[in-house]
Amino acid sequence: MVLELSRKGKSIEPSVTLAITAKANAMKKAGENVISFSAGEPDFNTPENIQNAGIEAIRSGFTKYTPASGTPELKEAICKKLKADNNLDYKPSEIIVSNGGKHSLYNALMTILNPGDEVIFSIPYWVSYPELIMIAGGEPVMLHTNEDKEFKFSSEDLDKVKTDKTKAIILNSPNNPTGSVYTDEELQDIADWAVKNNIFVISDELYEKLVYDGLKHTSIASLNEDIKKITITINGMAKAYAMTGWRIGYAAADESIIKIMSNIQSHTTSNPNSIAQYASIEGLTGSQDSIMAMKEEFDKRRKIMADLINSIKGISCVVPKGAFYIMLNSSQLYGSEIEGMKIESSIDFANLLLEKCKVAVVPGVAFGDDKYVRLSYATSAENINEGLNRVKKLLGSK
Ligand code: PLP
Repeated sequence: MVLELSRKGKSIEPSVTLAITAKANAMKKAGENVISFSAGEPDFNTPENIQNAGIEAIRSGFTKYTPASGTPELKEAICKKLKADNNLDYKPSEIIVSNGGKHSLYNALMTILNPGDEVIFSIPYWVSYPELIMIAGGEPVMLHTNEDKEFKFSSEDLDKVKTDKTKAIILNSPNNPTGSVYTDEELQDIADWAVKNNIFVISDELYEKLVYDGLKHTSIASLNEDIKKITITINGMAKAYAMTGWRIGYAAADESIIKIMSNIQSHTTSNPNSIAQYASIEGLTGSQDSIMAMKEEFDKRRKIMADLINSIKGISCVVPKGAFYIMLNSSQLYGSEIEGMKIESSIDFANLLLEKCKVAVVPGVAFGDDKYVRLSYATSAENINEGLNRVKKLLGSK
C-alpha cells in the first residue's frame, strides 16, 4: 500500500520561473544560442570587498553556529542601515536575520497567521506569495491591478476585497514582476487604510536600491508610529548587493513579532550561514560605489529594453520605474497564428519566442496574469539588443 504524502505539501506548486530557466539552460547546454531574459538575479558578481570579507570569515574561523536570529554585529549594522536609508528606528531586538528575504517572509507569515486568515496581495504577484501564505495556513486573496495604473493598488481597491478575515496585506515596492514603485502619497493612503482597519502590512523591499528616474524608495513603516507598529519590513542582501547565493535576508518589526519569528527559525534552520552574515556587514557598512554602478547599468538596459519592445508590432510595455523586470503585454497577439504556432496564452507566446527566436521569457501566468510575459534586464545590453531584434524580425516593426 502506498503511504499517503502530505496534502498540504502536495498542493504546493513548483516555481514556474525556475522551470523556464531550466528549459532555456538545457537548450544552451545542447549548444543552442539561447538568450535568456528569465533571470531573477543580478548578472554581476558580488562586489570584491564583500567577497574578501567572506574569505576573511573562513580564514579566521568564523565558521561556527551564531545566535539563531543572527549575530549582534550584523543586527547592529542593519539598524544603522535602516536609520540612514529608511529613516527607521529599530533596536537589534527588533531585527531577525534569515536565510534570504524569502525565509524572513515565511517566518513572518508563520508568526501572524492563524488557519483561514486572509492575506491580500496584487496580481501580477511574485510567484512565492500564494504558496508561502498557504504553507503558513492562510488564504491568498488576490487583487487585480492594471497597466493604466502602473499595476498599483489603492485603499479603494483594498476595500473591495477586505473581509473580516483579512489579517495582512503584502506590499512589494519596487515590484517584481512589474517594476512599479509606489509614491509617498500612495503609501500614505495604504498606511491609513491598514491602521484604520488594524491589518498587518508585510512590506517586501528587496529591490529598494533599484529605483530610477530620480525617484526615491520610501519604507511604509517610516510614515508614522501607528503604521510602524503593524508593519513587518522585509529586506535582504540578494538583489542590491548581487548576493543571491549567499542567502541573507532580514526583517524589522515590533519585538513581540520578531521574538516569535526567531523562535520558529531557531527550531527550523538555526542561524543563517555565519560566513555570509560576516560578509553582509561589509556589504552594509563598506563602500556603496559598486551598488551605484550596478544601478546605473540596470537603468541603461531598462531604457534599451523598453524602447525596443515598444518598437515591435503587436507587443508593448509600460516603462518600469524600479527592480530589473519588464512586463511585456503580449495579449494583442492572442488569437493569431505565427509561423504555424497558435498564440492563445502567455505560455504559447513564451514557447513561440523560445522556439523561433531562442529567446527565453517567463509566461505571465506564473504571476497570475496571462496577458503578459516577464523579461528581466539582468543581462548585457548586447544580449538585450540581439534578443529583441530577433523578436522584431519575427513579429515586424510598428
Ligand atoms: N521578494 C521578492 C519580490 C523577490 O523577487 C525575491 C527574490 O526573487 C525575494 C523576495 C526573495 O529574495 P531572497 O533571495 O533574499 O530570498
